[in-house]
Amino acid sequence: MFNVENIRKDFPILSRKVNGKDLVYLDNAATSQTPKQVIDVIVDYYSNYNANIHRGVHALSQEATDKYEQARHKIQAHFNAKHAHEIIFTSGTTHSINLVANGFTSILKPEDNIIVSALEHHSNIVPWQMLCERTGAQLKVIPMNQAGELIMSQYDNLLTENTKLVFVNHVSNALGTINPIEYIIEKAHQVGAAVLIDGAQSTPHIKPDVQALNVDFYVASAHKLCGPTGQGMLYGKEDWLKKLPPYQGGGEMIAEVTFEKTTYADLPHKFEAGTPNICGGIAFGAAIDYMNSIGFEAIANYEHELLEYATAQLLQIEGLTIYGTAKNKTSVISFNLDGIHPYDVGTILDKLGIAVRTGHHCAQPIMSFYNIPGTVRASFAFYNTKAEVDALVLGIKKAKMMLS
Ligand code: PMP
Repeated sequence: MFNVENIRKDFPILSRKVNGKDLVYLDNAATSQTPKQVIDVIVDYYSNYNANIHRGVHALSQEATDKYEQARHKIQAHFNAKHAHEIIFTSGTTHSINLVANGFTSILKPEDNIIVSALEHHSNIVPWQMLCERTGAQLKVIPMNQAGELIMSQYDNLLTENTKLVFVNHVSNALGTINPIEYIIEKAHQVGAAVLIDGAQSTPHIKPDVQALNVDFYVASAHKLCGPTGQGMLYGKEDWLKKLPPYQGGGEMIAEVTFEKTTYADLPHKFEAGTPNICGGIAFGAAIDYMNSIGFEAIANYEHELLEYATAQLLQIEGLTIYGTAKNKTSVISFNLDGIHPYDVGTILDKLGIAVRTGHHCAQPIMSFYNIPGTVRASFAFYNTKAEVDALVLGIKKAKMMLS
């Protein structure tokens, strides 16, 4: 049974004060908070079995290796990947995307094209632009409408037999739009293109099934779903991961090294050069366990309730515009007050202990589309409450009064 007051007790940070006020943390799309169940795992690692993995015969190394590989299996099960070696540990979504983009350098030809969407985070734009610069391939963009939804009829027109890759986020970080990735994947496969889904913003709310989606690559960051920073994952279909060259060279990723020739290790080690974030991987597994113990259906239902409650109240504030009104969206509200810079609103909210994000949210093309410098973004997690929404609404009214 979902009980937000009990859940809040798991998060030590939620009881701290900011500027003398109770913290109201509404910047969850930037990074989520960490429950004690995950903090305990981090403390346990450094207190009891900190050691390098995959190479030591001693007990600590074995223990750390076992825990690290168990975490990989937890992530495999969570995403329903067919094989554990299809899960590559990375430092985050950005690293995962760059790994794939680098791999396609030797595959793309100048006559090829790749497709991104108008709703992307910079980390799902810039690596592909760099790939196009390296290969001469063309970058095309699926446009969006005023509601912040992708225009699927235009996507259909962009796909050609020279389309080799399509990259779309599952959920937009700036607007919260949930994109129709099932359709996007199916259509891309009809022309033989591979698809990478950026799950940085979906994984805190939705449990994706990579086999049911039939997606080629799916990437995520642990810190968005109650795990640590500096840790992420790449799911790739086995065939693709075998085809792509390694991203970085170094220890751990080799089978044999001579000065004449090096052969590479099997998956997943081929893509995991050097000593990884061992504690981060183990804590990522613990975060997945924690989220599943609450249940993604319960999380999504509760967050939707918060979204509707907040939206209804915010719309009553005169001069407040919400950007991103898609029917299908997660608990993110991006807004502005008429004639007031988002940064000023954010600064006043901070004085009241309310943490929101202001700016372009690493999605400048979306801001250009709406012809605005940025927005104030409140993003709700399953540990937020209606009382916190009320505090936000009061704070915005206060900011409006002070700044008008
Ligand atoms: N894609 C999206 C949609 C995001 O929201 C983010 C994080 N804001 C990223 C990619 C990049 O994630 P990270 O910084 O953890 O690599």
